Order: sequence, then structure tokens, then C-alpha cells
Amino acid sequence: MGIFDALWIIGLLIYQIGIYIPRVRAYKVKKRVTLVALPGDIFLELSTWVFWQLAPFFYIFGELLSFADYNLPNWASWIGVLIFGASIWLYGRAYADLGTNWSARMEILTEQSLVTNGVYAYIRHPVYAAMFLWAIAQPLLLHNWIAGFGLLALFTPLYLTRMPREEKMLTEHFGEAYQSYMQKTNRLTPFPRR
Ligand code: SAH
Repeated sequence: MGIFDALWIIGLLIYQIGIYIPRVRAYKVKKRVTLVALPGDIFLELSTWVFWQLAPFFYIFGELLSFADYNLPNWASWIGVLIFGASIWLYGRAYADLGTNWSARMEILTEQSLVTNGVYAYIRHPVYAAMFLWAIAQPLLLHNWIAGFGLLALFTPLYLTRMPREEKMLTEHFGEAYQSYMQKTNRLTPFPRR
């Protein structure tokens, strides 16, 4: 195991233990107003998970994926470490700002409020932005077409189609408030400032 593999594992542990599991524990389905889910979502989410968390272990701890390895200069991997760190930081911030409005699915809960503060004041989808940063960092850390690049290849179409659906749902529920929030922010990038 190389240093970048080890850093990837440490990052995954920080994310799972420090950020994701506490969020899932705080999530209780109170009452649900709307649930926007398609059958295809489950398939895509599962395959994202396979490329995000499972394939890397086959790459790090075995030879199964070694036919798809590539080489990368060290400096490129160190840039990956920086992007990876930014991703974990943004995940932490976004989950904290979203609080109990967070859900692994696309839904509106009865006690849901519209969050427009914290990192949500700069971008509308900080959780997905964090995921994008992770998906960009992963092929720089894990030098394998499947374990590294697979995530980005799957994640991009999944979330580019998900964001408009989520925004449509939020607009239907929060109306004017979400529309004016959309006018003030971009989806994923804080610049140019609207
Ligand atoms: N797309 C957001 C949130 C991902 S979590 C992001 O990338 O940060 C998905 C849940 O967040 C959905 O169930 C949706 O109802 C909720 N949500 C998304 N934006 C929200 C906002 N500004 N305020 C409150 N809830 C929001």
C-alpha cells in the first residue's frame, strides 16, 4: 500500500465516522411531504457506491484490478490530496449547515426548513460539490481506471440529472423563497458571484 492509498483510507474513515454516520443517526423520518425517487436512482446509487467505496479496496488490497493501473507523477497525487482535503472539509460544513434537513434521498420532510446560510449562501449544492471534489481527487490518489476514474464517470451523469429534479421539488415546496435563492446562487461554484 502506498502513501496515497493510505491517505485515501484515512479520508474515507474521517468521512464515514466523523461526518456520515452521525448524520444518518440524526436523520429520523418524521413525516414526509414529497419523495422524488425514480427506480433508476437506486441502481445508480448502488453503482456509485461500488465505484466510490468498494472498488478502491480491491485495488489497494489485491491484484484483481491491476490490469487497469496507470502511473502518475507524485506532484499530481499531492494536488489530489489537497482536493481531497477540500472535499472532506466541504462535506463537514455542508452537512452541519443542512442539519436535520439532510437526507440520502430527495425528499421534503414536514419539519423541513429552507437553508440559505453558511456554505449554502455561496452555492446551492455543497454536498454534491464535495462529492465532485472527491470524485476528482480519487483518480489522482488511486492510480487505476476503475477504482480511480470509475466514480467520476458514474457520478457526473447521476448528479447532473439529479440537481434539476431536486430544484424542481424544492421550488414546488418553497415557491418564491427558493426561486429568489436560485437567483442569488450558482449550483456548484461560488464564482462568479450572482
Ligand atoms: N443538494 C444539496 C442537499 C443534498 S441532501 C447539496 O448538495 O448540498 C438532499 C436533501 O437536501 C433533499 O432531500 C432536499 O430536500 C434537501 N435540500 C436541498 N437543498 C436544500 C436547502 N437549501 N434547504 C433545505 N433542504 C435542502
